[in-house]
Amino acid sequence: MTYQEKCPICGTVNKDLNLDETNGWFICEKCGSEVNNLTHCKTVKIPFLKTDDDIKNYFGIT
Ligand SMILES: [Zn+2]
Repeated sequence: MTYQEKCPICGTVNKDLNLDETNGWFICEKCGSEVNNLTHCKTVKIPFLKTDDDIKNYFGIT
């Protein structure tokens, strides 16, 4: 199965990507950036947020 993903860097739609083989990584045909779009829609890693204060700091809420 191939996928169609939009490059988050330049916005170019990359077609016929074999994301299953690469764990979601692809190289944009336009700008050459290595991007992983699976991280956007599957698991979002939020670093070291243990308390409400951590969360506020992370998102810049004061
Ligand atoms: Zn790009």
